[in-house]
Amino acid sequence: MYDAIIIGSGPSGLMAGLAATRCGKDFLIIDKKKEIGKPVQCAEGIIDLVLKMFDLPILPEYNVTEFGEMYLPNGKKGSLNMVTIKTIVLDRTLFEKDLAKRVDCEIKLNERVLDYKDGIVITDKGEYEGKWIIDASGYRSIIGCKVGLNYPLEKNDYFKCLQYTIRHPDIDDKTIKVHLNLGNLGYTWEFPKGDHVSNIGLGAVSGRIKNILLDHLDKYYPGYEIVRRSGGICPIPKPLDRVTNGNVMVVGDAARLVLAQSGAGLPNSLKSGYLGGLCDPGKYENFYRKYLYPELWKNWVNKEKGLRYNKFNLITWKERIAYRMYNVLPNSFKYAVEKRIAKGPKYQFFEYI
Ligand SMILES: Cc1cc2nc3c(=O)[nH]c(=O)nc-3n(C[C@H](O)[C@H](O)[C@H](O)COP(=O)(O)OP(=O)(O)OC[C@H]3O[C@@H](n4cnc5c(N)ncnc54)[C@H](O)[C@@H]3O)c2cc1C
Repeated sequence: MYDAIIIGSGPSGLMAGLAATRCGKDFLIIDKKKEIGKPVQCAEGIIDLVLKMFDLPILPEYNVTEFGEMYLPNGKKGSLNMVTIKTIVLDRTLFEKDLAKRVDCEIKLNERVLDYKDGIVITDKGEYEGKWIIDASGYRSIIGCKVGLNYPLEKNDYFKCLQYTIRHPDIDDKTIKVHLNLGNLGYTWEFPKGDHVSNIGLGAVSGRIKNILLDHLDKYYPGYEIVRRSGGICPIPKPLDRVTNGNVMVVGDAARLVLAQSGAGLPNSLKSGYLGGLCDPGKYENFYRKYLYPELWKNWVNKEKGLRYNKFNLITWKERIAYRMYNVLPNSFKYAVEKRIAKGPKYQFFEYI
């Protein structure tokens, strides 16, 4: 019997593996995909302090950005010089491969988990028994649903995302851009990867996202060259009541930890995966209740409010405040806010490990 079986080798599953490695557990990772880190279904943006939190390297292939720009639907622009926190645009394939190198266990690829019964994980190739089962299988959360921690996503519980990675000489490699769209149409992101290549995508709960995205590309980057097309689902339902049940823990997207307002899922995937991998459900549940749940709840309520506002095509008060933050507040205040953010999550997290 293994100490732990981890389902999924995405960021949360690999972080669970990293924590399990660091505490000397005997464990196994199973994933249905054929190669670690592929396919990439992500805009690859993360703030540097999350990587630093786990002593993960900033590889030379990652792009470190320095500025942020936000555009309101009426065309007004706000900009931010990121002094203390940098947004990194990862190469997610390399990021996951680098994590996998740090994990000391067998990773079974090309093997699909089908079921779970009485502590036994059943795949299309065999059966495995584990003292702890960590469901890091992303938004479908096959085992989480089975043990009643989770439920299938319904309408408005997820963003549909579409992304084009494009090359164009006008792409500014040092600036991330966010264009807020009217209606239920979320926002369009531009996360540059360097060498005038950028992940440009749109996530929204409904609507004709492809048309809006293509119009955006034609408007700002006429004649662009497509490097890669991708997409995916970002789960943003009401936060789960619990993330552990018996010997099962859900982490990452399987635990619905994406922030509903921004769609950012990587930071909480890394944190929850690491806590899950320590194989101490009490600790993980406490961290979830104290820190993750309130943040998720706030995000979810604001998303719901936003959806109602957006029926009337209004700019929400949150968007107005964000615009003021970006443009009107003095730099000294913005700097203080950044420093506070930089301090916060690190402190909270290290209480728990
Ligand atoms: C288009 C898009 C852009 C995004 N951009 C960002 C961003 O810029 N920044 C950010 O912070 N977040 C972003 N996110 C969210 C982020 O990608 C996710 O939160 C993160 O990938 C979750 O990691 P995870 O390990 O929990 O799940 P996943 O990355 O989904 O990994 C789950 C793994 O489980 C495996 N699996 C699934 N089912 C089974 C099964 N039955 N048997 C075996 N294996 C299985 C899958 O193959 C997969 O490898 C984005 C999401 C999308 C869709």
